[in-house]
This record gives sequence, C-alpha cells and structure tokens, in this order.
Amino acid sequence: MKQILVTGGAGFIGSHLCARLLKEGNYVICLDNFFTGSVKNILHLQQNPFFEFVRHDITTPFSAEVEEIYNLACPASPVYYQEDPIQTVKTSVMGAINMLGLAKRKKAKILQASTSEVYGDPFVHPQTESYWGNVNPIGPRSCYDEGKRCAETLFMDYHRQNDVRIKIIRIFNTYGPYMSANDGRVVSNFIVQALQGNDITIYGDGTQTRSFQYVDDLIEGMVRMMPTDDDFTGPVNIGNPGEFSMLELAQKVIEMTGTKSKIVFRPLPGDDPKQRKPDITLAKEKLGGWEPKVNLEEGLKETIKYFKTIL
Ligand code: NAD
Ligand code: UDP
Repeated sequence: MKQILVTGGAGFIGSHLCARLLKEGNYVICLDNFFTGSVKNILHLQQNPFFEFVRHDITTPFSAEVEEIYNLACPASPVYYQEDPIQTVKTSVMGAINMLGLAKRKKAKILQASTSEVYGDPFVHPQTESYWGNVNPIGPRSCYDEGKRCAETLFMDYHRQNDVRIKIIRIFNTYGPYMSANDGRVVSNFIVQALQGNDITIYGDGTQTRSFQYVDDLIEGMVRMMPTDDDFTGPVNIGNPGEFSMLELAQKVIEMTGTKSKIVFRPLPGDDPKQRKPDITLAKEKLGGWEPKVNLEEGLKETIKYFKTIL
C-alpha cells in the first residue's frame, strides 16, 4: 500500500483523484484549506479507513511519511484566483517550495498540476509543450499564470539540483461533477444558469475558444503520468483537443437542458486568451496511448445530471 499525499484534495479535481487512488488500494492523505474546496466533495471518502483529511495551507511547511505527492492546491477559477492574487502567488510558489522540500526529504516522487495558462494568449495553435507562451507578467491573470510558471521552474530546478523525481502536467480546461455551482468557470456557469432559467452570460462576443476535457480523462492521464520513467519529467499536455467557441458551448448547454434561458453578452475580462487547444502527441506517446475518451456531449450530460442533484 502506497502512502500518497494529494494537496487540494477537497477541490473539484482533487476529490476525483483521491477517489481513484483509494480505489487502487492506496492510503491517501488529503490536504486542503477549503479556500475553494469543500468538505462535501470528500464526504463520500471519509468512511474509508485509508483516507485521512488534514486541514492545512500549503504556504506553510507540512510533513508526513509519503511516497508520492500530487500537488493540486491552488484556486483554478479566475473569479477566485483574482480575489486574493497575493495568496494565489504564495500558494503556487511557496506551496511548491514546501511540497518539493517534503519530496526531497522523504525521497518521494512529486507531480505538479500545471496549466495550459502557462501558454497565455498563445501565438502557436494548437499548443505544443515546446512553445514558451505569451503571458502578461503584470496583468489580472498573472498571479495564476506566472505563479504556475514559477512553480514549473522550481520543479525543474529541484530536479536538476537535488535529483527530486518530478512530473509536470499541463492541464487544459477540465469540467465535470463536483465543480462548485458558484465556481465561476464557464461550464459550471452556463449549466447552473440554464438549470435555474437565468440568462447565459457570454463574456465578449463568444468567438474565443477553449478545449474542454471531462474530469475522468484527466484523472486517467494523471495516474498514468506518475509511474513513467524517472527521466521523463514532462511537461506534458493533458487535455481534449476538441475545440469549441463559447457561443457553441452556450448553444449546446441550452439544447441539452431544454432551458428557456437567453444568451446575454457581458464585457470580456482582461487578458482573456482568444484560443486554446492542446497538442497531445507527447501524452499519447509517453502515457501508453492515453487519449480522451469522453466527448463534450457525453461529459456535459454527466455534469448536468450532477448539477441537477445539488441545485
Ligand atoms: P479547485 O479550486 O476546485 O481546487 C483547488 C483546491 O485547492 C481547493 O480545494 C482549494 O481549497 C485548495 N487550495 C487552494 N489554495 C490552497 C492552499 N494554499 N493550501 C491548501 N489548499 C489550497 O480547482 P480544480 O479545478 O480542482 O484545480 C485543481 C488544480 O488543477 C489546480 O492546481 C489548478 O491550477 C489545476 N488546473 C485545473 C484546471 C481546470 O480546468 N479545472 C486546468 C488547469 C489546471
Ligand atoms: N466565460 C464566459 N461566461 C462565463 C464564464 C466564462 O463567456 O460565465 C468565458 C471566459 O471569458 C473565457 C472562457 O469562457 O473566455 C473560459 O473561461 P473559464 O473561466 O472557464 O476558463 P479560462 O479562461 O481560465 O480558460
């Protein structure tokens, strides 16, 4: 039985990851400060004697006997990461230093949940891992984008300087059950608005694109990444290459929920990337032929079903 630490384990992705790791027979320590996560996301795991929850902020050091660490702690929705941008940077940077220090002391392997946001508003499309990105260092999204870029730097430096075994994955927009209803990201916003009969808020003209990945596909990619050869550190893109405009997404949600909600247009937030789509050639090659299995319609169906149970 492996002892595994999941930071941000009470969040949307973290709760799915904890469940998967428990199912595979591991002992899971879930660490979270409940900034955007919730005890509700892990209630169903707490009966399991091999699951342990620790309330802790990763900007301060933490110690436990662990063999693997999945570092997910960090708010992911622009609404929340911009609410306290200094804390967002601290979480990414000091959190990475604390978790890398732990990995170093315990000789544990550590995986960083990085993001497609490291590509910023990209000039290369689709985005390959070799693209260095186009990121504004002083804008409203910088606390998240630059925080995650610095975390990648720290991961590579601990690997080169201290031989820490590291893995970096760059996650593209992911959605699914256990997203919080007031998370503020586009998929949850549109579904909640549609189910409540409220206006569907498109920011800008809705022509900007994103590639949406269902959470189960991401979790499969993550658990395949951890056991890869030690000399394979990544970064590797994990996302679904299906690309949709926000107008297309809104129309799909309207059609699938049968809502009478109307689309309304709101101002585009600053530095909002115009397009995003992963090149997943490397993931396919290195992660045993991994590729997303769930298309947008199937994923939305499951997510709509979930939101109907919590609203
Ligand atoms: P989320 O907000 O649901 O989960 C983040 C979790 O981290 C929450 O439970 C929150 O309470 C916790 N947390 C935040 N700051 C913390 C701190 N200082 N100490 C301890 N816990 C803290 O978001 P998510 O979508 O589940 O994202 C998980 C990870 O995946 C994040 O690192 C995010 O950057 C990354 N990611 C997510 C997406 C996506 O589309 N969902 C895309 C790219 C990257
Ligand atoms: N968006 C939107 N309406 C919403 C929420 C978001 O049109 O109610 C847009 C947002 O401006 C962005 C896209 O949807 O262009 C994806 O936003 P999200 O916050 O989900 O992810 P990110 O911008 O971080 O990729």
